[in-house]
Amino acid sequence: MPDLMEQVTSLAKRRGIVFPSSEIYGGLRSSWDYGPLGVELKRNVKDAWWRAMVQMRDDVVGLDAAIIMSPKVWEASGHLEVFTDPLVECRNCHQRFRADDLPGDPKTCPNCGNHTFTDARNFNLMFRTHMGPVEDGAEDVYLRPETAQGMFVDFSTVQQTSRRKVPFGIAQIGKAFRNEITPGNFIFRMREFEQMEMEFFVKPGTDEEWHDYWIQERLRWFTDLGVRPDNLRLRDHDVDELSHYSKRTVDIEYRFPFTDWGELEGIANRTDYDLKAHERHSGEDLTYFDPETEERYHPYVIEPAVGVDRAILAFLLDAYRVEEAPTAKGGTEKRTLLALHKDLAPIKAAVLPLSRNERLVPAAKEVFDLLKPHWMCDYDDAGSIGRRYRRQDEVGTPFCVTVDFETLDDRAVTIRDRDSMMQERIPVGSLVEHLRDRL
Ligand code: ATP
Repeated sequence: MPDLMEQVTSLAKRRGIVFPSSEIYGGLRSSWDYGPLGVELKRNVKDAWWRAMVQMRDDVVGLDAAIIMSPKVWEASGHLEVFTDPLVECRNCHQRFRADDLPGDPKTCPNCGNHTFTDARNFNLMFRTHMGPVEDGAEDVYLRPETAQGMFVDFSTVQQTSRRKVPFGIAQIGKAFRNEITPGNFIFRMREFEQMEMEFFVKPGTDEEWHDYWIQERLRWFTDLGVRPDNLRLRDHDVDELSHYSKRTVDIEYRFPFTDWGELEGIANRTDYDLKAHERHSGEDLTYFDPETEERYHPYVIEPAVGVDRAILAFLLDAYRVEEAPTAKGGTEKRTLLALHKDLAPIKAAVLPLSRNERLVPAAKEVFDLLKPHWMCDYDDAGSIGRRYRRQDEVGTPFCVTVDFETLDDRAVTIRDRDSMMQERIPVGSLVEHLRDRL
């Protein structure tokens, strides 16, 4: 039996959720593409985050900053200097590895088994490119390695234009790029990935309390979306592990099958490090004036930061099950199920005519037309009804709506629930309302 990661990776590929990028050219190890179902899942994850972090709050606003920012940003943030990993090269096969990733004692090359390596050299993880038509003399620019800096450099503009008072936050979802030395484990570590980050600006002295608040909020976000609490834990960074800007960082870890526990989200107390650094480098005043106390200060920042792709991996692993299910003939068979939270499921309802009979098809199309303005729906008429149920279970569709010959007489359809497999007869006239209640 392949392990859970292999099963989920294979399902993701087989069903066009996530698969290797540019595969006709042999792929590119660290790049992955989201197919028709994956793009829906990804949008749903981002929407769920945006809803919880921006829409439902009156103290957080959104931002969509550029990926290519002034290179001075990365000088000020410290990324040019310290955003590095120690890199060693195997003296035998010349493959490169992260020094702190090498297994064994003595350290052993995972590729050839050799034990001798070059000294560790710091390798900057930022992707560098050139701006302008000629490479010579053009300005070196970087693809952002995190979205956070957009919120810091735009702090004053956003604060003033949105007329927010501290405490308040700025949230952003967008691509980030890191030239990771060892990408891998499917979409756990990529070189091009997407982040959801929020910088929450608070009055110094209230930062520790807000930090605890956001740790709990973020943990709850995952459990509200159905992740099993047993598979989540909090871990405080050791002092020597803290980033250069952090006073305290707590990771939400997930029980990933390949590392036991691995970082899913980091929640850092970034202090006033970034605002002060940008103020020093830009010469612009990045303080906040509190109109009530008439004090001027640099707010402290609490940052919950999570990868969209890494969250998707956790949601997929957590939702994946293989169960014994009853068949129509009275036996049982294996069914693969993605028990995704309904908000995350790529398709909310699948409309299935019992057969391709010429009287059933128009009735089924009519039901599909009725539902599709409300939710992402699928129409599937290929194969036996049992097989179609299995296909929908496998990609997490919460409801199948079956149109049969009785529908033509009684104007009712059968709704099958993904998890319980219970079926219920519902009049077409109240179908939208019924699904809305359950979704
Ligand atoms: P790691 O220790 O795994 O390299 P990190 O501590 O460098 O991660 P952060 O800088 O805290 O990560 O980034 C915030 C979040 O962004 C991480 O918790 C993770 O979910 C996501 N993330 C970071 N790097 C990658 C990557 N290479 N691929 C996919 N997601 C990533």
